Amino acid sequence: MQIPAPFDYERASDVANALALLERHGPESRIIAGGHSLLPMMKLRLARPEWLIDINDLAELEFIRREGDQLVVGALTRHTALLESADVAELFPIIRDAEQVIADPVVRNRGTIGGSLCQADPAEDLSTVCDVLRAHAVIRGPDGERIVAMSDFHRGPYETAVAQNELLYEIRFTVRPRSGSAYEKVERRVGDWAVVAAGAAVGLSADGTVEEAAIGLTAVALDGTVPEAEAVLRGQQPHEDLFVEAARIAAAACNPVADQRGPVDYKRHLADELTRRVLRRACARATAAQEG
Ligand SMILES: Cc1cc2nc3c(=O)[nH]c(=O)nc-3n(C[C@H](O)[C@H](O)[C@H](O)COP(=O)(O)OP(=O)(O)OC[C@H]3O[C@@H](n4cnc5c(N)ncnc54)[C@H](O)[C@@H]3O)c2cc1C
Repeated sequence: MQIPAPFDYERASDVANALALLERHGPESRIIAGGHSLLPMMKLRLARPEWLIDINDLAELEFIRREGDQLVVGALTRHTALLESADVAELFPIIRDAEQVIADPVVRNRGTIGGSLCQADPAEDLSTVCDVLRAHAVIRGPDGERIVAMSDFHRGPYETAVAQNELLYEIRFTVRPRSGSAYEKVERRVGDWAVVAAGAAVGLSADGTVEEAAIGLTAVALDGTVPEAEAVLRGQQPHEDLFVEAARIAAAACNPVADQRGPVDYKRHLADELTRRVLRRACARATAAQEG
């Protein structure tokens, strides 16, 4: 049995209190949300916080709501809530696609979007999803609130823009007309982390050409999205030849490593194939939204 190093624990009563506790206990304190990433790391002694600040009582952090042209999701929102939200399914089907293949119901009932993004594991599905949707993170700290684009949020594996004395508060997704998105993942068995996964989001002009496109890949050491592949699509009518070309560029841009999930060639092949599929599906969804 793996046992974590000794630690102390406090339950925050609201966001201000959580920030005060982080300040009081200093660099050795860590937020705990669902605990599905932090606790395994503590058991393996890869993380040894002296204080855990539990934010599970903070109902103010657990919501999905429409605000003008934004869908705003609180950091403590559970995977299950995202999976079951009608607004999410309608506006951002990529989130639902991803949630269907994240872990199992036990993990999804407790794990949170904030924990997923702050963990910043290179295989984390929601990191790619948020990159592709060009989401914004709202971070609160002792000096107030700041808004960070997803492209600036992830600083590298397990590193984010959230400082030790700050809290990820909410994630904002902009609702765009005539848009569609999709996510697809290959895993070794149901509920496993990705061997490789791909996400795409497209926005169409009134004449049906691609106005905006984003392509992301999971678990293949790609930082952010793939601008060269996205440029191929922009201004064009969606077409299979374009998907093939964009997928080829995306697969060439990633840097998979050989491990127990497979060799480099296999992962690059998956990146190519999955990118084609998500582009096809995202464009079909955008066209349906346009007609619909
Ligand atoms: C068996 C298993 C299978 C899994 N499979 C997948 C999978 O296929 N795909 C996938 O994407 N994920 C998978 N996960 C991870 C799962 O999605 C976790 O829920 C997620 O990684 C972390 O969310 P959490 O709420 O549990 O975070 P926690 O473990 O509580 O926290 C993770 C980190 O984020 C920090 N943190 C949490 N919330 C905040 C906040 N609001 N502000 C600042 N810092 C914060 C914590 O301090 C910690 O450093 C799996 C997990 C398990 C246990």
